[in-house]
Amino acid sequence: MSASFHPNPDRPHPDRWIKVRPEGLYVEPGGFHIDPVRPVERAIVTHGHSDHARPGNRHVLATPATLAIMRQRIGEAAGGSLQPLEYGEGLTVGDVAVRLVPAGHVLGSAQVVLEHAGSRVVVSGDYKRRPDRTCLPFEPVPCDVFVTEATFGLPVFRHPPDLGEVGRLLHSMSLFPERSHVVGVYALGKCQRLITLLRASGYDRPIWLHGALEPMCRLYREHGVELGELRPATAAAKEELKGALVLAPPSAVADRWARRLADPVVAMASGWMRVRQRARQRGVELPLVISDHADWDELCRTLEDVGAPEVWVTHGREEALVHYATRRGIRARALALIGFEDEDSEEGVS
Ligand SMILES: [Zn+2]
Ligand SMILES: [Zn+2]
Repeated sequence: MSASFHPNPDRPHPDRWIKVRPEGLYVEPGGFHIDPVRPVERAIVTHGHSDHARPGNRHVLATPATLAIMRQRIGEAAGGSLQPLEYGEGLTVGDVAVRLVPAGHVLGSAQVVLEHAGSRVVVSGDYKRRPDRTCLPFEPVPCDVFVTEATFGLPVFRHPPDLGEVGRLLHSMSLFPERSHVVGVYALGKCQRLITLLRASGYDRPIWLHGALEPMCRLYREHGVELGELRPATAAAKEELKGALVLAPPSAVADRWARRLADPVVAMASGWMRVRQRARQRGVELPLVISDHADWDELCRTLEDVGAPEVWVTHGREEALVHYATRRGIRARALALIGFEDEDSEEGVS
């Protein structure tokens, strides 16, 4: 790993071969984009969230789990041809050596490790550093340039311990045993992570699911993630749901769907629940701060761990992290990539 980039025709700076294009990050000597926002010829997809895994690409390379998630969500539109690449397996695409390593974000999520002309660049996709039973942990890879997300890139964002948040939910259930508790969760990742956290906390009763959450839970199970007993909430009688725990997409918790429940306590599991105003706006009584993105401390620690002399920051609040890195002697800049919404924030039904 080298600490500086001297003009050297044999070792061109990575900004000479990785370009920001309207359709997304383009790796020129490989002829492929990473998480393109518009259909392209060749795409590498970091994970299955809908702002990263978009339909219509000719050729898609991703982990087997990410490809399975894409097929389930968008069917044929997942790509003209789908090429699985296991974690840690090497592949040469054009003039670039490519490897995928775990990102700890959701099932199948990967960082893309690129090597070309003597430099190594790691594109993190979305990631977190805390343990998650539903996916492999983030693996720090030393590199020359680290491309990091910054969804929660402000020092005010410090996610509390996730088991503590789940403890608050269980406490509320014991205080109001007659009411049902409905928790808004994103269908891919958050739903399954919350279930595994509940199971780890000793909650072994059935968990009821809105129909929109069922297919992804099935897929996780097929990939070996234990979820315990799950039941369809849509088929249940109101009486059955008294005192029950029901998970639903964020858009369903506040609408007519939730009225079928017995005097529900409305909760939501999201990193954004740290912002009280957002919780209030959405009518959330019990905000649970559980995020699949790195918080400020995790972002800073990760810059330390990968030891890159240069970082490119994208996908959120870039300025604070750019400032922090610069102060620590790391070259840093914001990458103007567009089209990434945070799955934690608003819609989250699909
Ligand atoms: Zn994501
Ligand atoms: Zn994202």
